Amino acid sequence: MTEAMHQILVVEDDDGIRNVLRVLLTAENYRVVEATTAHRADIEARSHKPDLLLVDLGLPDGDGLGVIERVRAWSPVPIVVLSARTREVEKIAALDAGADDYVTKPFSAPELLARVRASLRRSVRGTERLAMLRIGVTDIDLEQRRAKDGDRDVHLTPLEYRVLESLVRHGGKIVRSQQLLREAWGPDRSGDTRTLRVCMKNLRDKLERDPRRPEFLVTETGLGYRLLLP
Ligand code: CA
Repeated sequence: MTEAMHQILVVEDDDGIRNVLRVLLTAENYRVVEATTAHRADIEARSHKPDLLLVDLGLPDGDGLGVIERVRAWSPVPIVVLSARTREVEKIAALDAGADDYVTKPFSAPELLARVRASLRRSVRGTERLAMLRIGVTDIDLEQRRAKDGDRDVHLTPLEYRVLESLVRHGGKIVRSQQLLREAWGPDRSGDTRTLRVCMKNLRDKLERDPRRPEFLVTETGLGYRLLLP
């Protein structure tokens, strides 16, 4: 299936924004279904089974979070939140409800389209585990726990491998710091975000071309990290 056939359910009560989204998405050859209320969103999601949902949080008959939770209860479809809510707790609530990504309004069209493409790509790839990955110029074998930069061995610690594995397992989605700590360090170190920051810095120093401007091991401020792979 090509991207041209993907169907996107836009849940947005603001006519202006919905029109902009329709024009933007149809120009990229997505098919667009629209809903202006939480109630209609539930119905359209069930009847159309879209490939992706773009969900506004402030809806006239309820909260978009409810839509996300209800859809997530029966479908792994990618859900991208598009909201004017900029507080971290609100973003976290959306991710906890099951959203895959969060774009704040006002949004930039290229950024929104890039997030949509990325979310669709991840869902096509599914949760299948990636044993070999390439970060920049480094080839990493997660099964053998070996990393090479051409002929040169790159030494990563077991902890650094576990952090990478956790990021890979989440397939490019934002992984919350607490979750990353739990998965890589275990439940006892759950409050230790400083340790996590040090570990991410070391990984960037080893793997990124410019560790101060990471292209792959990306910080999502206030939320956590994600691994962006081409
Ligand atoms: Ca709204």
